[in-house]
Amino acid sequence: EMNYRHTFHAGNHADVLKHVALLALCDALTAKPAPLFALDTHAGRGLYALDSNSALRTGEAEGGIGRLLAESPKHLAITRYLAAVRACRQVHGSASYPGSPWLLAHALRPDDRIAACELHPEEAQLLGSTFAADARVSAHERDGYAAIKALLPPRIGDTRFNRGLVIIDPPYEAQLEEFDTAIHALREGLTRWPQGTFALWYPIKMRRALQPFYRRAAALPAKSTFVAELLVHPDDSPLRMNGSGLLLLNAPWRLDETLRGALQLLARTLGDPSGSWRLDWLKEPA
Ligand code: SAM
Repeated sequence: EMNYRHTFHAGNHADVLKHVALLALCDALTAKPAPLFALDTHAGRGLYALDSNSALRTGEAEGGIGRLLAESPKHLAITRYLAAVRACRQVHGSASYPGSPWLLAHALRPDDRIAACELHPEEAQLLGSTFAADARVSAHERDGYAAIKALLPPRIGDTRFNRGLVIIDPPYEAQLEEFDTAIHALREGLTRWPQGTFALWYPIKMRRALQPFYRRAAALPAKSTFVAELLVHPDDSPLRMNGSGLLLLNAPWRLDETLRGALQLLARTLGDPSGSWRLDWLKEPA
């Protein structure tokens, strides 16, 4: 059933896109003092070893974080991400790579709270031990989609959180079904927590196959909706992942501008010679 293991893919171009954007999102949200709540529905184990057998077997990180570190293109959001990876390596060793909950814990503040969900028992156990010493992070072995219903709107003790983010990063093992499930979860989440920012990662084989997804995403009850996409191969083969995207709902003001600049350099660095990127509004803010 659950065959996907992120340890084969950690640090690849999709992780780079996702994690650059995640940090930019956290930084934009922490510009205001109110405490944030972050829900990571598909958190993984939180910390990866790029010298593990599984990582070396695919070599995917080489074309992602490996290339980016070697070339260090100059853009604030990229520099920020590379600094976070270096900070992780200082603590956990030079072959380590941070997962999304690690980056959340790194970027957020003492009064912010993070709920990280992971369904695979072994991954969930590792997730729990990674954050055992961080009281801000609660690790749950549970279905991340069910957590959207259970944990939103966020409330811990007497504290209600008006601001924060939900990141949904599913494995897409049952390809088309996962898009449906994710759209449904976003609708549920937005209804429960209308002011939250939501980010959904998705793989891209051929962009034109995604038209129904874009249409459904545009109809979600958000104040604003855009997609940020990075392709590292030509958009012409249905057989492989040519790139990936993030659907961003209720993103903070000007996150689109930050990501535009970063995407341009990511496409050039990771997509050499055939990279491309786009940032398209599906629903412009009023
Ligand atoms: N977000 C992580 C990161 O950026 O470091 C990577 C997550 S990986 C792409 C997807 C994870 O979701 C896998 O670890 C998988 O075991 C887990 N998973 C699959 N179905 C799930 C579900 N329904 N609820 C929670 N986790 C799930």
